[in-house]
Amino acid sequence: MLRLAIQKKGRLSDDSLKLIKECGINFSKGGGTLKATAYNFPIEFLFLRDDDIPGYVEDGVADIGIVGQNVEQEHVTDTNSLLELGFSKCRLSIGVPREMDYQGIQDLDGKDIATSYPNLLGKFLKEKGVSAKIHEISGSVEIAPGIGLADGVCDIVSSGSTLISNGLKEVEKIFFSQAVLIGSKNLSAEKQEILEKLLFRINAVLAARNTKYIKLNAPNDSIEKITSLLPGVKSPSVSPLAKEGWSSIGSVVKENEFWEVIENLRDAGAEGILVLPIEKIIH
Ligand code: ATP
Ligand code: MG
Repeated sequence: MLRLAIQKKGRLSDDSLKLIKECGINFSKGGGTLKATAYNFPIEFLFLRDDDIPGYVEDGVADIGIVGQNVEQEHVTDTNSLLELGFSKCRLSIGVPREMDYQGIQDLDGKDIATSYPNLLGKFLKEKGVSAKIHEISGSVEIAPGIGLADGVCDIVSSGSTLISNGLKEVEKIFFSQAVLIGSKNLSAEKQEILEKLLFRINAVLAARNTKYIKLNAPNDSIEKITSLLPGVKSPSVSPLAKEGWSSIGSVVKENEFWEVIENLRDAGAEGILVLPIEKIIH
């Protein structure tokens, strides 16, 4: 049995649970429980605060865990970084009051910066040769300058709207983060084997993200043109239609790339274009 720690409630929870579900792993979670066991895969879940997850994985209380890279890197622990998961993308940035005439990083010299990320901020300031004072607080960092607690902040940003609504502007982006699967360094052979199976499934799910299966009809004399237009396609499948001189072309494409060439496909004679979802891709 493998033990996976995921965030109990917050910005990682929904996407973590969705990933598990897409891996075909089912469990029922009674409200407020700390633990659950899957009924069709040898895995159990611990629901925890995200900050506690790296420590629990290091101690072996959990075997693997899903956290943001910001938390993984801030809590310096002896764990393996197994796989980037592509969700909960955000960045750690420095913000200063909007009215400050900020010219560059040297303007932070001698300033007081409030953050919940003293390690990541300290590392960044050291690299840049800036000596600012780090004021560690555990929450509501963005209000610190407004109440006179600090001159600036270093906090998680995604759209930047929290900074703006607190009269701050983003001046330095210091770390880019996404959710990551971390693992204990001391897994038994049995657990390692279950982990391999889980990674196989997660990779199949991640590979299918943002991809679609496209199917279209085309006159035979435009097959070559159309396949050359389909982005990243090595060998599409081409099969004859009942209608004389026409074929059906099918292929896997990246959705965002596909929209860029749709007009050209139609100009080249493509008709009846179907775009279908893909659940998993096994490489
Ligand atoms: P907990 O109660 O578990 O300690 P928390 O309040 O520390 O939760 P959340 O705000 O739920 O944490 O964020 C969890 C993680 O999600 C962050 O560490 C970061 O990696 C990521 N994250 C934070 N804010 C955003 C955002 N606006 N957009 C996308 N991802 C984010
Ligand atoms: Mg937290």
